[in-house]
Order: sequence, then structure tokens, then C-alpha cells
Amino acid sequence: MTLLDRAVVTLLPAVPKRVVRTLSSRYIAGPTLEDALRVVSGLNAEGKLATVDVLGEEVADASEAEAIAAEYVAALDAFEREGLDANVSVKPTGLGLKLGYDLCKRNVETVIAAAEPTNRFVRIDMEDSSTTDDTLRLFRELRDAGHTRVGPVLQASLKRTVADAEELAGASVRLCKGIYIEPESIQFRDDPRVRGSFVKSLATLLDGGSYAAIATHDEWLVDEAERLIRERALTPDRYEFQMLLGVRPELGDRIVADGHRLRIYVPFGRQWYEYSLRRLQENPKIAGYVAGDLGRSLFRRR
Ligand SMILES: Cc1cc2nc3c(=O)[nH]c(=O)nc-3n(C[C@H](O)[C@H](O)[C@H](O)COP(=O)(O)OP(=O)(O)OC[C@H]3O[C@@H](n4cnc5c(N)ncnc54)[C@H](O)[C@@H]3O)c2cc1C
Repeated sequence: MTLLDRAVVTLLPAVPKRVVRTLSSRYIAGPTLEDALRVVSGLNAEGKLATVDVLGEEVADASEAEAIAAEYVAALDAFEREGLDANVSVKPTGLGLKLGYDLCKRNVETVIAAAEPTNRFVRIDMEDSSTTDDTLRLFRELRDAGHTRVGPVLQASLKRTVADAEELAGASVRLCKGIYIEPESIQFRDDPRVRGSFVKSLATLLDGGSYAAIATHDEWLVDEAERLIRERALTPDRYEFQMLLGVRPELGDRIVADGHRLRIYVPFGRQWYEYSLRRLQENPKIAGYVAGDLGRSLFRRR
């Protein structure tokens, strides 16, 4: 962590909420479903797909988790009503995983029941390593129960991921670097090894017949992914690229111009402030991005 990152993380709770809102507005659609629908509609008009995340993690009781599931159902209904090309990304802890595995599974099933009639996909985000086994178990049980439009996420920074990619052959898997800082015994910390694990896991998924959602803003990895796709002569029904709302849009435009499908991750919800603070505190690298943004916006104002 650089001194600047440390300073940003320490000072952030003291920064007025409206300033954090301004800083995070590029990365979060807004507090309401209408905000998310507006953003998704704009993305669709640019030829980009979306996956929508209702903000809310580590809920305190079952009713909060059920309320989040209900918000997903409302979002899926709205996508259909408004003719939007979007699916959803759910977080197991937001749907109650820390309160009980069965509660979480029931809530994910509620979301799937709303998504399946309109052929929409439910991505199960991967959170910190205390949830990895339960999240993969959840995915397997849902798949074995006959749900085909659901898939997990693998984090290339975890040492176990190449093996998980082999085990998940044939599934639809999002591959990302991983946002959470884990013990060094289970996680690669240096970028060359994280990138190496990403490329190896992606090749494993593609060769195993998986649909791969390649989630990165790292241009080097985008180039490597394009190489793997080219070498295998894969058609766009075998993969897509994914990026976070507001991050490196020019790279996203290049991906679309290269003829690939691109899906943008669109978070929205009342918990935008807590989400922004938690992301920053979990991974100070992002603080550097925010500081860079702040610096750039200050610069632009001159
Ligand atoms: C669609 C999508 C879904 C994801 N789902 C998960 C998940 O389920 N579980 C999980 O652990 N992680 C998830 N992530 C986050 C991911 O693990 C990485 O932390 C994040 O994408 C940064 O890694 P990178 O591959 O972009 O490479 P980096 O080397 O971190 O970033 C490359 C460049 O992109 C820019 N950049 C990257 N991230 C940001 C940001 N947040 N703000 C501003 N600029 C940025 C910077 O310019 C940076 O130099 C997801 C990412 C995406 C794109």
C-alpha cells in the first residue's frame, strides 16, 4: 500500500458523503432501480450488454436477504418490460450465506425462478475465500437440479483456481483476478503470477468447453484472451468480455469494435455509500484509482 493509498483509505470516512457520491457516481448507477435501467438502456444503445448487481452484502437478518432477492426479481421483471439486454449478478452473502446456507440457496432459487422464464442468466459473484467452497457447492447443486442459466466466478489470484477451472469444465464461468486480499498461503500477490494463472485458467475453461466471461480491464490480458480465442477459432457464443461500469471505457469500446460481446457490470442500490467505503478498505489498490480520479477531476477543473 502506498502512502497515498493509505491516506485515502484512512481519510475516506471523514470525506463528506456527497463527495464520495461524486467520486463513486462513475462506478455506481445510483440508488434506485430506475437509475440502473437508465444506465443499462444507454449501454444497450452502444451495443453493450449488462449484468446488474443490487448492492448489499453481509445482511443482518433473513428479511434483509429476502428483500434483496425481491429487488432482483423486480429488476428482472423490469428488464423484460423495457426490452433490455441484461442479466443479474448476485452475492451469496447479500442473499444470506453468512446467516445460513439453506437461506441463501432459497434466495438464489427465487432469483433463478424469475430469470429462467425469460432465458436470463444468474451469475453468482465470488466473495472472500471464507465463501469459496460454499459458493461452488451452491452452483453445483443448482446445476445438478437442472438449472442451466447459472454460473460461478473464479478468481485467478487464488492458487486453487486452475484446478477449479478443470473441475468446472463445461460450465459458464466468469474469470477475474479477484478483489479480496487473502493470506499469502492461498493467493498469488504479484501481477505476473496472477496474470499467468488467469491465462492458464482461461485456456483450461475454453478447452473444457466452458462459456468464459473474461472480466478484466488489463489490456495485456485482453490481448492474451484474444490470442487464445483466435488460436481456437472460437465463435462469440463461446465467450464474452466483461468490465465494471465506468472503468476504462475506451478499452471497452475497442473490445466491441474488435467484434466481441462486452457485458458491463452495473451496481445500484441504497447501499452505494457502504459499498464504496468497503471496496476501498478491502483493496487499497482501488483507493489509488479513486485518488487518481480525484486528481484528474481536480486537474480538469483548472
Ligand atoms: C465484470 C466484473 C466482475 C467482477 N466480479 C468479481 C467477483 O465476483 N469477485 C471478485 O473477487 N472480483 C470481481 N471482479 C473484480 C476483479 O477481480 C478485479 O479486482 C478488477 O477487475 C481489477 O482487475 P483487472 O483485471 O481489471 O486488472 P488491474 O491490473 O487491477 O487493472 C487494470 C487497469 O484497469 C483500471 N482499473 C481496474 N479496476 C478499477 C477500478 N475498480 N476503478 C478504476 N480503475 C480500475 C486501472 O487503470 C488498472 O490499471 C470483477 C471485475 C469485473 C470486471
